Amino acid sequence: TVNGVAKSKTSDTIPVAAHPLAEDPTDIASNIKYHAQYSPHFSPLKFEPEQAYYAAAESVRDRLIQQWNETYMHYHKVDPKQTYYLSMEFLQGRALTNAIGNLDIQDAYASALNKLGHELEEITEQEKDMALGNGGLGRLASCFLDSMATLNLPAWGYGLRYRYGLFKQRISKAGQEEMAEDWLEKFSPWEVVRHDVVFPVRFFGHVEVLPTGSRKWVGGEVLQALAYDIPIPGYKTKNTNSLRLWEAKASAQDFNLFQFNDGQYQSAADLHARAAQICAVLYPGDATEEGKLLRLKQQFFLCSASLQDIIARFKERKEGTGVGEWSEFPTKVAVQLNDTHPTLAIPELMRLLMDEEGLGWDEAWDVTSKTIAYTNHTVLPEALEKWSQVVMSKLLPRHMEIIEEIDKRFVAMIKSTRPDLESKISDIRILDHNPNKPVVRMANLCVVSGHKVNGVAQLHSDILKAELFADYVSIWPTKFQNKTNGITPRRWLKFCSPELSLIITKWLKTDKWVTNLDLLVGLREFADNPELQAEWDSAKMANKQRLVQYISRVTGESIDPNSLFDIQVKRIHEYKRQLLNILGAVYRYKKLKEMSPEERKTTTPRTIMIGGKAFATYTNAKRIVKLVNDVGAVVNTDPEVNEYLKVVFVPNYNVSVAEVLIPGSELSQHISTAGMEASGTSNMKFALNGCLIIGTLDGANVEIREEVGEENFFLFGATADQVPQLRKDRENGLFKPDPRYEEAKQFIRSKAFGSYDYEPLLDSLEGNSGYGRGDYFLVGHDFPTYIDTQAKVDEAYKDRKKWIKMSILSTAGSGKFSSDRTISQYAKEIWNIEECPVP
Ligand code: PLP
Repeated sequence: TVNGVAKSKTSDTIPVAAHPLAEDPTDIASNIKYHAQYSPHFSPLKFEPEQAYYAAAESVRDRLIQQWNETYMHYHKVDPKQTYYLSMEFLQGRALTNAIGNLDIQDAYASALNKLGHELEEITEQEKDMALGNGGLGRLASCFLDSMATLNLPAWGYGLRYRYGLFKQRISKAGQEEMAEDWLEKFSPWEVVRHDVVFPVRFFGHVEVLPTGSRKWVGGEVLQALAYDIPIPGYKTKNTNSLRLWEAKASAQDFNLFQFNDGQYQSAADLHARAAQICAVLYPGDATEEGKLLRLKQQFFLCSASLQDIIARFKERKEGTGVGEWSEFPTKVAVQLNDTHPTLAIPELMRLLMDEEGLGWDEAWDVTSKTIAYTNHTVLPEALEKWSQVVMSKLLPRHMEIIEEIDKRFVAMIKSTRPDLESKISDIRILDHNPNKPVVRMANLCVVSGHKVNGVAQLHSDILKAELFADYVSIWPTKFQNKTNGITPRRWLKFCSPELSLIITKWLKTDKWVTNLDLLVGLREFADNPELQAEWDSAKMANKQRLVQYISRVTGESIDPNSLFDIQVKRIHEYKRQLLNILGAVYRYKKLKEMSPEERKTTTPRTIMIGGKAFATYTNAKRIVKLVNDVGAVVNTDPEVNEYLKVVFVPNYNVSVAEVLIPGSELSQHISTAGMEASGTSNMKFALNGCLIIGTLDGANVEIREEVGEENFFLFGATADQVPQLRKDRENGLFKPDPRYEEAKQFIRSKAFGSYDYEPLLDSLEGNSGYGRGDYFLVGHDFPTYIDTQAKVDEAYKDRKKWIKMSILSTAGSGKFSSDRTISQYAKEIWNIEECPVP
């Protein structure tokens, strides 16, 4: 036996041996045993699934390390231009299934684990999600990393190693409760600490003018940034890139032994405690001044450490070649800012080039602006970052000087070249000098400084150009681009829905679609074929059955696999309108109650599943979570109705939950108020998995509908260009609510779903205007067409053949939404980098 208990008889005969590159299941099993024995994390008595997971993960890591080192050496030798993707969030999810899938060794691992008495599926379930992100933006970064490696692009991610990533959501009688999620509690087998990669990062202090006239940032406190690397394997390629996460440390000298021995334990380790705060949590609450300062520190920490590392690598690769002109830097380095969170990379690169490397302003500016590009992810005014000038001057005095200089030069440029824009200077400049609250506008800093700015779906990029950034477009017409988001087809189809993937490969007679997703269009010609339809139906049913079991396990609810699975999973936000969904469910319930038993039998049974986390301080979002749970509690226990309707809240939505939900869904809801969702990416995942969308003309829905065909998309609701007028009408008292909408709200007010006080939530839908009132998100306007469209869904579902055909066409039309396409466009049109395959 291995370390004591093993369930399999064959396990006894397998030797313990290190075979880092084993292909054969027996050798792989030997290597797993080797890790269980010689890289132990547990006492040597057990080899239960948890121990087997760690040993298996380490055996996979062996192989990754080999490729990873080769990749590093190869990039070092070739010295290609490399991209660095700076992001405060990476939502990686689990790594084991993805790694063995990308290395194409699932079958060998399944068989090896079998020999050791374990099932691969059970082992992979042991892994905790690496949840260092909130939602779409972080998951996008992770899909991009997968595509970069798969496309053999020299490209790395940079982020922070948060100890507690996104909170774990628990649902109690009170609604959502947040618990710390400690993904590092028992060590992560996927990270490698690089003790030789450490950079100092300063906070506070002051600026000194040296006798030469140059300026230097000194004093304050200095922490150390230590690198932890996560390997990012590409699909069936040797290239293995890095996700480098920084951890904040204080050094031994900063531990005051004298104070400690004097009993002053806390102050002795003061800097150590402050270092621990930096990487403690993703998005610490920022309602307080301390919270704001901590977030700014996190952002700067990421930017400073990453840029010092990038500059060190630039110098290292140049060493001995005789070339080392700084003007070459942008030909070797592209830095992409994932939203404004890493904007401080701009003044930090300027500072490093001027104060540390001795460049003049013009030269440093030229290098910085040619290196940095910015992706905008939102037009919501409350989400556009603005930092207090007072806080910025205190924490980063030299950066504030640099930002002031960039602002001053921009204003001068406008005055001298664009007198027509003079009246708008106060809007478009970087510094907002509002005497009550002077702030730095981070998006403006990015637009003025970066060489390219992109939106994340066509509609979103059009809105950016026409509205938010319209004046900048007139100054720099070629700076603005669109890069419609994408998702990796590996994690989001091949690995999460193996049954459907096999069918696709069979009918397309190739598995090349996995890296060339446009090939899916070849399914169109078979969409009417009864044989494909039968296979498709049974694969979808297998996925639904898996979901039935999952729901039963996490909620105790039993759901009918023959009902229509209708899912909305994403962060809970008023603009995403989960409230519209649940009001629709309440209306459906009421109508079912009013029907005779015979009438009910003619309806389409539905299971409505809603999942997502609400930010801890977002009260209305938490009320929505509570309402969904309360509606579920009543509907699901109502014997008259629960054969025809169930409402289930799926707790703790994250990447691995998404991997079960998305393949099993048949209808998914992407119903945001038009103009407010920049792109969405889960809409693409559902469409790719043959799930039909009910949605508004918002974000990437617009392009998904174009690609899958209007007849395969359930469209409703106001369009983005109608929204401003509808809001005005509402303010002027011109809104006439549909009686069905009033009925649904009234039903909740009648306490049909319990005595919780829903008035503040419902009140946000009432009145003509006012803070938190007046239905800013137009739930009332869109409700009637939403209900009508849901009725069309019910009808369509009754025609099984037609539904399956629509499902096939949805997958067939999803080729455009591969992140391989998105990343190829970034590589060509923004980064100017080329593939660098490891031989
Ligand atoms: N959260 C998780 C775990 C995801 O996988 C995704 C995307 O699929 C999102 C959030 C973002 O979802 P949406 O695009 O619907 O906002």
